[in-house]
Amino acid sequence: LPPSTEDLIGMEHKFSAHNYHPVPVVFAKAKGVEVWDPEGRKYLDFLSAYSAVNQGHGNQKIVDALMEQAQRLTLSSRAFHNDKFPILAKMLTTMFGYEMMLPMNTGAEGVETALKLARKWGYEKKGIAKDEAVIISCCGCFHGRTMAAISMSCDNEATRGFGPSLPGQLKVDFGDVNALAKLLEENGDKVAAFLFEPIQGEAGVVLPPDGYLKKVRELCTKHNVLMIADEIQTGIARTGRLLACDWEDVRPDVVILGKALGAGVLPVSAVLADSDIMLCIRPGEHGSTFGGNPLASAVGIAALEVVVEEDLCKRAEEMGAELREQLQAVQKSHPKLIKEVRGRGLLNAVVLHQKGLGNATAYDVCIGLKDRGILAKPTHGNIIRLSPPLTIKSEQIAQATKAFRDVLESD
Ligand code: PLP
Repeated sequence: LPPSTEDLIGMEHKFSAHNYHPVPVVFAKAKGVEVWDPEGRKYLDFLSAYSAVNQGHGNQKIVDALMEQAQRLTLSSRAFHNDKFPILAKMLTTMFGYEMMLPMNTGAEGVETALKLARKWGYEKKGIAKDEAVIISCCGCFHGRTMAAISMSCDNEATRGFGPSLPGQLKVDFGDVNALAKLLEENGDKVAAFLFEPIQGEAGVVLPPDGYLKKVRELCTKHNVLMIADEIQTGIARTGRLLACDWEDVRPDVVILGKALGAGVLPVSAVLADSDIMLCIRPGEHGSTFGGNPLASAVGIAALEVVVEEDLCKRAEEMGAELREQLQAVQKSHPKLIKEVRGRGLLNAVVLHQKGLGNATAYDVCIGLKDRGILAKPTHGNIIRLSPPLTIKSEQIAQATKAFRDVLESD
C-alpha cells in the first residue's frame, strides 16, 4: 500500500526540520486549481504556493516545455552560453520594459541580487563613501529568509534569534510617505535604495494608501535613490496587472520577480533594471550555478507565454472582484466575525475579529475550510490569505465562499 496522509505527515515530522506549521493535508496530484491527496480526496488550492502557481497546477504548455527541454539540455552553467537563456532574457525585458535582467533561482536570491546591485550602484554612480551605503526597507515587510533578506525586516519571528543583522539598513513604516521623506532628508546622501513590496503579502495583504507608490517614485527621484519593487508575490498578473506598480503607472528602477516566473514548476527568479544600473555588476562579481539554466529558461518562457495567451491579468482582476464581492456578502451577515475583506486582483485576505472567534484562530478556520475542500493558510493569528491560481472559474469561487460561510456558521 502507498503511504497514507497520516504516514507521510508523521514521517515528515520525524525526519524533517520543524520550520513550518503546515495545514495537515498532503498534495499527491494537482491540475489547475484542483489538488488531490493520497486518499483521492479533492481540494481547491486557495494559496497557489504563495502565488507561485498563478498559471495553475500542471499547465500543459509549461509541462511540455519542461519535458522537451529536459530531454535535450538542462544545464550549461554560465561558464558557457546556452540556447534558451537569451530568449528568456529578451522576452522578459521586452514584456516588462527594462533593458536588462539578471537571472537567479529563488526569490530570496533575487532580493540579495537587487541589494548587491544597489550597493554597487551607490558607490559607483551615486558616489557614496566606501562601505557606507544604506538601504531603506519597510516595517512588516517580507523579502525571504536569507541573512540579507531578514536584515531588511523589523523584529519578528523571522529575525529574532538570528542576529546580528546586516549593517547599512534603515526602516520606515509601510505606507507612510512623510516618514520616508524625513528619512531621506536626513540620510539621502548615503541611501542607495528603497526596497518595498507594492502590497505586503506575508504581512497579510496590506495595501498602502492610494498614491503611495507615485509619491515614493517622486521621493526616490528627488534623492537619487533606487526604487526597488519586490514583485515576487505581487507580480506576473497576480493583482490584475503585470506588476502591482502598474496600478499607479509607476516605473521602479529595479524590479524583482520570482515565484510565478517559474509557474510553480521550477524556481526561477530575476532582477530587472536598465543598463546604467545593471552594468555596475561586472563578470565575476555575482552569479549562481543554476541561474539562467536552460531548463528554467524554457519553463520561464512558457510561463510568460501562458500569462499573455490566457489573458491572466484580466482574469485575475475579474475573478478577484467576484471573490471580494461574495466574501463581503459573508461579512455582511457576520460582521462580528469578519473585520475586513481586502485585496487586489486575486491577492486577497479576510481579516477576522479575534474577539468574535473566542478561543479559535485563523488556523482553526483554515482547518474547517480544509474539511470542506478549500485549502488556505493564515498569515497571522487572524488573517487568512486567499490567492488561488489565476485560472480559477466562477463556480470554484462560489464553492470557496460557500465553504467560508459554512465554517463561520458551524462553530
Ligand atoms: N519576496 C516576497 C515579497 C515574497 O513574498 C517571498 C516569498 O514568499 C520572497 C521574497 C522569497 O521568495 P523565496 O521563498 O522564493 O526565496
